[in-house]
Amino acid sequence: MQLSPAVSALKPSATIAAAAKAKALKAQGIKVYDFTLGEPDFDTPQHIQAAAIAAMQAGHTHYTPSGGIPELKAAICAAFERDHGFRYQPNQCVVSNGAKHSLHNVITALCGPGDEVLIPAPFWVSYEALVELAGARAKIIPTTEESGFRLSPDELERAIGPQSRLLLLNSPSNPTGATYSPEHLEALARVTEKHRLWVCSDEIYDKLVYTSEPSRSWVTLLGGIPERTVIVNGVSKAYAMTGWRIGWTLAPAPLTAAMDNLQSQETSNPCSVSQHATVAALTGSQQCVADMLTEFTRRREYTLSRVRQLPGVSMPEPGGAFYAFFNVSRHFGKALTNGRVCRDSSEFCTALLEDAHVALVSGDAFGAPGFVRLSFATGLANLEAGFDRIAGLLKG
Ligand code: PMP
Ligand code: GLU
Repeated sequence: MQLSPAVSALKPSATIAAAAKAKALKAQGIKVYDFTLGEPDFDTPQHIQAAAIAAMQAGHTHYTPSGGIPELKAAICAAFERDHGFRYQPNQCVVSNGAKHSLHNVITALCGPGDEVLIPAPFWVSYEALVELAGARAKIIPTTEESGFRLSPDELERAIGPQSRLLLLNSPSNPTGATYSPEHLEALARVTEKHRLWVCSDEIYDKLVYTSEPSRSWVTLLGGIPERTVIVNGVSKAYAMTGWRIGWTLAPAPLTAAMDNLQSQETSNPCSVSQHATVAALTGSQQCVADMLTEFTRRREYTLSRVRQLPGVSMPEPGGAFYAFFNVSRHFGKALTNGRVCRDSSEFCTALLEDAHVALVSGDAFGAPGFVRLSFATGLANLEAGFDRIAGLLKG
């Protein structure tokens, strides 16, 4: 069947594909230790669920304004001011069907053929695909394990060319968990400001930080740089609301109007009930976020201790998010304990899944061959059994 060139070239999301493979094995009755998806295992907190039920019963079951209901835009701006001390206005906010959709809006509204989008690697799997869908070109900037996978100002400066339009930055990062100090971010911001480059700062993991330094929003750097900044965030990770599909952008008003326009043609509006639930998430007690962070902290510590014990494996410590991204390349070309030989991360993940029933995502899809990603957004017992199985396959 003939499809459009853009869609023919599109690969499926590697994270979602890896999760589907694990699910298929589970459907055969096999116990699988699944660490693929970056999705909190917690249920959405009760008070948020209650707000959704109340919204339905109050009749909020109709179309809403395309860019979101005024109460939610106001709540997003107020929460951002509370967390970062920077005031956005509701006409600078578009609410979308998840942060992935927000990213699509930003990239489509700003970039097209001839434009280049700078993406530091390792990067989240959907960045490159969304850029290509918009007809723009992804320019990948490799970063090193030794630098903790942090983009340096020099690396950024060298990558910028005449076609460069936008930098996609994600801190804390999926897949590496890398975070940046405010000084490091300011040094990067001086480069982007010098070149008048747009920056889309994906801050979806900003509440999931394990260092003493809270996450600093890009727009607050250098005394405030809202002119060419887009902030992307959402409720999926911090509030365990992946299925509700709510994300948003904070951006200059003309770009916001353009994205609202785009969204009005593509999807009408984000789910009405989910929008009301999100108002409750952002305006209610933030204790649920703190409680989940406490549990993620415990899982992170356990994960770090187990990764450190794996033979021939290395990893910079993740400062945020809920992923361990480790280098398994020293095992390539050598037999695992069951005699199987892997040549790359994809084969390594296949071996783990087929021989140990442990599901990870290959680093290839994140622009980092030689690495694998493990999501620790799952219970300790699962982590313990999973790590036992990984350790069982690796020769010391
Ligand atoms: N950005 C990053 C870095 C992510 O890991 C994800 C994963 N869900 C998203 C954006 C999109 O989140 P959602 O669409 O669930 O809001
Ligand atoms: N962002 C999560 C992940 O990386 C969820 C899946 C997806 O949307 O890619 O696993």
